[in-house]
Amino acid sequence: NLKPTINYITKEKILSYYKPRNKWSHKGTFGHSLLIGGSFGKIGAITLASKAALKIGSGLVSAYIPKCGYNILQISIPEIMVEVDDDNTLSYFNIKTKPTVIGIGPGMGTQEKTALGFYNFLKENSNPLIIDADAINLLSLNPKLLELLPKNTILTPHPKELERLIGTWKNDYDKLNKSIEFSKKHTVVLVIKGAHTVIVNGTNLTFNSTGNPALSTAGSGDVLTGLITGLVAQGYEPQIAAIFGVYLHGKTADIAIQQTGYETFTASTIIDYLAEALLDIF
Ligand code: AMP
Ligand code: MG
Repeated sequence: NLKPTINYITKEKILSYYKPRNKWSHKGTFGHSLLIGGSFGKIGAITLASKAALKIGSGLVSAYIPKCGYNILQISIPEIMVEVDDDNTLSYFNIKTKPTVIGIGPGMGTQEKTALGFYNFLKENSNPLIIDADAINLLSLNPKLLELLPKNTILTPHPKELERLIGTWKNDYDKLNKSIEFSKKHTVVLVIKGAHTVIVNGTNLTFNSTGNPALSTAGSGDVLTGLITGLVAQGYEPQIAAIFGVYLHGKTADIAIQQTGYETFTASTIIDYLAEALLDIF
């Protein structure tokens, strides 16, 4: 009963998902992304995610971060709005912003007060969620929290985060089976990151066709979280947003290496090459 349907992402499929902009649109048409995360020394992670959400076309972007990141974020990205937690570690989660979608986790930390705040946040939350990094780690530490996730929440684990979430696996086949079971049990979309990222939505598996080792660099995953969040903000269904985001993320690296080589490519380069990746679809 776990027999999977296997798909491969192609440019044609991505083009068929694309929603062209209407002449009469306004920024409200393209949603409001809220990125939650960051901690002292890791404000960069939430900065990258916020910038990616903005650059993929989210109409509005807000960030909810610890107090210590306020100036950094306001200066780094003039286009976004910043709301602060009244602590230098995310603790209170007393969020006033009313977004359409929330991406949470990059650079957030897993301190006890953050864990408690995250629990309270999940109890109150009714927005669609994209969960990454330390937010995944907090779910792994307390799996009961999985019951609080809205249907079709997207989780974007790298291999270590996936292992904390679903346990160890014997081989790739076992890994995919466990991921399918997890996705079905909790009704979540899993983005299993790596050289061939696979998006798992129940028994539906979608393998990515773009990307290369230039992406093996700090902050690469934080940018992906922002991209997927910004796509959900614009009305793409969670599974489609995950597929679209993963494809574009990889495509930036495939295009950029002609100019940057592998080594000089950084997470910011992903954002710089988004335009070329998008234009390549058409
Ligand atoms: P993170 O570990 O959270 O920073 O995420 C790393 C991101 O880079 C994920 O989207 C991975 O799929 C991508 N990535 C890392 N290494 C490679 C690789 N060798 N080939 C393709 N994509 C990669
Ligand atoms: Mg990461």
